[in-house]
Amino acid sequence: MVRITLVRGDITAEEADAVVNAANSSLLGGGGVDGAIHRRGGPEILEACRALRASHYGKGLPTGQAVATTAGRLPARWVIHTVGPVYQASGSDPSLLASCYRESLKVADELGAHTVAFPAISTGAYGWPMEEAARIAVEAVRGAGTAVDEVRFVLFDEPAYDTFARELR
Ligand code: ADP
Repeated sequence: MVRITLVRGDITAEEADAVVNAANSSLLGGGGVDGAIHRRGGPEILEACRALRASHYGKGLPTGQAVATTAGRLPARWVIHTVGPVYQASGSDPSLLASCYRESLKVADELGAHTVAFPAISTGAYGWPMEEAARIAVEAVRGAGTAVDEVRFVLFDEPAYDTFARELR
């Protein structure tokens, strides 16, 4: 069974085999987690993303899917990029958000990663309410049937941390 842990902090500082990026489908950078990962990880990550756009992902990475690159200068071996769904008050699809976690863990399994750090995908610019996003995230990880030993949720602020902590109890 995968062990789920929580820390409060900046995901770019996490020592883990893989850190997950809340990317957008262009794979070419953005704000929030994405911006921080590219800033701290250096140009190698963007170079790898550009190569993906030039090969398998000409139209970008579809929502709910995941793909790995180097982690550049981050204290991790890989960045797994996944694209969360944008929240819409009338009818957002929770299965797409769950898919981000499942597909990222599938990629982690293919890489042989033992520890994977996730941000709270879709809860920033993409607007998903933290409580619902935390429930979907925890459920998806628990149900993933992954070989990963530890999934670490890295929450940026105290309210987010507390919400995930409640969900894990
Ligand atoms: P999305 O576009 O999927 O909503 P964001 O990157 O905008 O992704 O935000 C996702 C979550 O990550 C938000 O809760 C945000 O507060 C948090 N966050 C932003 N920067 C970082 C960081 N450096 N480390 C960890 N979490 C972060």
